[in-house]
Amino acid sequence: MPKKPKKTTEEKVIEDYFPLDEEDAEHATEKQVKETIPDFKQIVEKEYKKPERSSLERVEKIPKIKIKKSKATRKVKYSPKKIKLKKGGYELIVTEKPQAASKIASALGNPKRKDSKGISYYELERKGKKIIVACAVGHLFTLKQNIPGSEIPIFEISWIPNYLARKKDFTKKYYDTLLKLAKDSGSITIATDYDIEGEVIGLNVVRFICGQKDAKRMKFSTLTTQELNKAYDEKSPHIDWGQAIAGETRHYLDWFYGINLSRALMNAIKTTGRFKIMSIGRVQGPALNLIVQKEKDIQKFKPEPYWQVFITVDDERPRGRSIASTELRAESGAGKNKLELKYNQDIFDKSKLEKFENIVGKTAIAETKKTEQVLPPNPPFNLTTLQTEAYKFYGLTPSRTLQIAQSLYLGGLISYPRTSSQKLPESIGYKEILKKLAKEYNVEKLITKKKPVEGKKLDSAHPSIYPTGNKQILAGDDEKIYNLITKRFLSLFCDSAIIDNKKVSAVLDELIFSARGASVRKKAWMEIYPTKLKEIEIPDLKGEVKITNSKTEQKETQPPKRYSPASIISQLEKKNLGTKATRSSILETLYNRNYVKGKSIEATPLGISLITTLEKYSPIIINEKLTRNFENEMEAIQKLKKNFEEKEKKVIDKAKQTIISIAKDFGKNEKKIGEELLKATNELRQQQKIENTLMRCPVCKKGNLGIMYSRKTKRHFIACDAYPDCTNTYSLPPRGVIKKANKVCEECGFPMLMRLLRGRRPWVFCFNPKCKTNEEWAKKREKKEEKENEQD
Ligand SMILES: [Zn+2]
Ligand SMILES: [Zn+2]
Repeated sequence: MPKKPKKTTEEKVIEDYFPLDEEDAEHATEKQVKETIPDFKQIVEKEYKKPERSSLERVEKIPKIKIKKSKATRKVKYSPKKIKLKKGGYELIVTEKPQAASKIASALGNPKRKDSKGISYYELERKGKKIIVACAVGHLFTLKQNIPGSEIPIFEISWIPNYLARKKDFTKKYYDTLLKLAKDSGSITIATDYDIEGEVIGLNVVRFICGQKDAKRMKFSTLTTQELNKAYDEKSPHIDWGQAIAGETRHYLDWFYGINLSRALMNAIKTTGRFKIMSIGRVQGPALNLIVQKEKDIQKFKPEPYWQVFITVDDERPRGRSIASTELRAESGAGKNKLELKYNQDIFDKSKLEKFENIVGKTAIAETKKTEQVLPPNPPFNLTTLQTEAYKFYGLTPSRTLQIAQSLYLGGLISYPRTSSQKLPESIGYKEILKKLAKEYNVEKLITKKKPVEGKKLDSAHPSIYPTGNKQILAGDDEKIYNLITKRFLSLFCDSAIIDNKKVSAVLDELIFSARGASVRKKAWMEIYPTKLKEIEIPDLKGEVKITNSKTEQKETQPPKRYSPASIISQLEKKNLGTKATRSSILETLYNRNYVKGKSIEATPLGISLITTLEKYSPIIINEKLTRNFENEMEAIQKLKKNFEEKEKKVIDKAKQTIISIAKDFGKNEKKIGEELLKATNELRQQQKIENTLMRCPVCKKGNLGIMYSRKTKRHFIACDAYPDCTNTYSLPPRGVIKKANKVCEECGFPMLMRLLRGRRPWVFCFNPKCKTNEEWAKKREKKEEKENEQD
């Protein structure tokens, strides 16, 4: 068998690394219900600031400076303006994002683009009525505690505008524009994304900016002209209260959990005289627990040896020839019907291998069984299956896939991606889309069905993900994801594939050997949608066959496999933890907190210790069942027709009770928890330090050089760990992620580094500025500087 080509060092390093850069995390949190809200971070950072040399040095002694109380106790006051809608005023349509506003305006009429403080909005006339379409920019409001402080538990919180929660907030202009436009409007229509987050964004605009109790609601799954017009004509007279209240409840719960639990952890660490930012959330806890339990299983695992026995048979029966001549013929490969078969059991007791001695030359009885397998197309994409397939085929992380799908949606190319549905109702107009795309992809002959294959899962708000039929030139990952979605859609209308399976067995006394083959008889949908089916051709064997060879292979049982970014997301979905919209960002948070690492997700010492400590002192935090119950309760609110607030209160009260009991658990064992977490943090630091150490410092010859990150300049650099005794540093390229390349520079012997930057090939370089490989580069820079000086 041909061996797989060996992976290059670069490829290995890239595989070990995930996510590709910090951008991933930022985009993923776009709609995330934040578990550490900004005001909280600000308080923490105000308490303690020190020029940070590296992210590896986060655990520091608490400085002795007293915290200034005056700022911390200042109460943020916010009372929304009271607005009366004007009789005969225009209709104000509010979208979630700027791009959606432009799409909706163009769909409903001939819009004029206007501007307020640099924020665009659109004015148009439809059937003699004036409409203004303006946008939010995601959430304009955030939850904040009424009276600041860091004690726990805290439950007194309210919504305030982002601009009051953090300085230099870019959403202020959007807030002001909406406020200005609301003042002259006669009615309000919400046209945010139709899901719980979109509904909360809309609800907050309605009550806090427009001063109204309710509004009209446009509901749509694609930003196509046709659907937007329909959504406008058939708009609901009310916002979707079930969704709005379910969403608000989720925000409350996540705040209560996120803030209180993270504070509890940090307070525990403070008892040891140290300081570290830590967090754990309502879904984060059980999600991390899954990964840690897997890690523990792997650590516990003891490999066991076992044996597999193979024989080679040849169906050309000896016709009175001597054994020697038969062997000769087998070796020369003359037998066309040679086949290797495997003994149908793995052997764990070595003594049982005796049975297989002296079987070469014997005659076995062969049989061939054929079965036909009908393989229908896979059901339409929902977010999880799209993320899984994008990871399988292109290695794209779930959050990157979501980010791409979101932009394809905003471009009007695909339907809303945050869906769990596997249904494709006729009402979306798939007939025309199919006609158009089948022609474009030149697969008309393969389309045989009028109705698509569907899966079981439902989503009350949206159908599965499908292409709208709109066209735009795409490139790179956008193109890959778009094609995958389109091919999946087209395949739904094809015949089932037919696979011929074959099982050949050979029996020698009580020993049964077998081999399996498969070939695709009819490709059908597989001609459109990529599949990883392996065809294996084996001959038909029947009757007496000669055993011409046998071999025994020793193997070892393998530990359980770690989760991949795609498999953990499907596991969370299976267990009903988190929502389709939040799962990928929960995973990102686990990476960002250093609880897990690697593409094959490995729990770090800190992650393992956090779970072990919580298991011991406050197991309720990682209780998957409790998290799932909350998830179910919120789903129930979404489906309610009335009494939303009552149910909201019930769920929130239950959450409060849970958090109060967690706070008690922590109160009792704070010091022990703190000590255990500190120990793990130090262990992690040590591990990271080893991973980041490059070489002995050539200047002081005592310290070691390591890759550091400066938060101040937001750049990576190399420094000696004997600082402040040694101040030797080297600069690094400003952009991308720097990793060890596991290679040594041939010119100067320094370890080589690699820069990873999205969309670029990895760049391997020597960081020694005096190295020959850098001479040319340095000369170029010198010349450039000279030129600049001349110009001055
Ligand atoms: Zn040094
Ligand atoms: Zn070098």
